Amino acid sequence: MLGCVLGDLYGSKFEGGSSATRALPGLTEANTFTDDTVCTMAVIDHLLHDLPIREAFKQWVSVYPNAGYGRAFSSWARGILPEPVSSWGNGALMRISPVVLLSSTLEGAFETADAITSSTHSHPIARLAVRNYIELLWRALEGATRDDLLALWARKGGNIHTVESMHATGSPMRLRADETLEDVMSCLAESTSVDELLANCLYHGGDSDTIAAVAGPFAELLWGLEARHLSVITDNTDERVMAMLEALYTVARERSEADVEEPRAKELRAFIDGLENADWDALHDNLAQLVDVPLPNALLTQVIHKLSQEQLESVKRWGFDDTEVSDRLHLFFQNELKRFGSLDAWLNPPVATP
Ligand SMILES: [Mg+2]
Repeated sequence: MLGCVLGDLYGSKFEGGSSATRALPGLTEANTFTDDTVCTMAVIDHLLHDLPIREAFKQWVSVYPNAGYGRAFSSWARGILPEPVSSWGNGALMRISPVVLLSSTLEGAFETADAITSSTHSHPIARLAVRNYIELLWRALEGATRDDLLALWARKGGNIHTVESMHATGSPMRLRADETLEDVMSCLAESTSVDELLANCLYHGGDSDTIAAVAGPFAELLWGLEARHLSVITDNTDERVMAMLEALYTVARERSEADVEEPRAKELRAFIDGLENADWDALHDNLAQLVDVPLPNALLTQVIHKLSQEQLESVKRWGFDDTEVSDRLHLFFQNELKRFGSLDAWLNPPVATP
């Protein structure tokens, strides 16, 4: 996600240390994108282009061989180790945020994220941290507030510490995935804006680029990035990275529009499936009752109206038995959806102007 790349860019200058102040410093030539960005692009490439995940990591590492990868990951990606080690490292977290944008359910996001994680970070610590991170991001995408996320983190037994306490102890490198998520949630607890969260990550310090890269998607989902943040990303990455980000957001937008239709279509399919053993007289009585009862989904009511009034009668006249009727309705509806493009268009066909 954009927030991840933004965090990586700000944090890269402070990896293994921390910023001296709690104000967000300006960018210098030392701010370059690192492994956090590259591995996130590999995940996007995998998700959008059916590229096997391990292949995606290897390809992206070969394009950017000096982005500061962890030693074990790098040894595997360059072919020195035949298999990745069972890592618990925070590399599992920093790359995973695109999964949330491209999944239509939380369960689906868990599954996809776990498959990606297990490909190189199969240790239970990494897999659990990723699961927790995905759930927090998912809730943020759904509209949870910062305090909602902190409450969820607490319910999961997650700890937080003060940003000052970590800064004061010299910002040790904490590379375990669960510890990094704790660092990020600790920074989040003291932040109320994108800039404040980034600045807190840098002041907290340690594996600063990864902490900020993991925090960045929270900043993006909670408060939204501004044009100046986008400029930082455009000015400090390259065409290859920008093309992947653009593809990610284009597909995510298309899918979220499609997801609005999907639950309605599912409900309708369940209804049509239920017709399989219908007694037609009883069915019409049931339909009459159904449409008189206020259903939670007003659209479904309209569908039943339309099916019952126009289609059910005509299908019945064709003389099929109940199972064939059910199949006919499936086919009919599939074709109608194809013809009209969406359920809404089918229900409200454009009126021909005289
Ligand atoms: Mg890095």
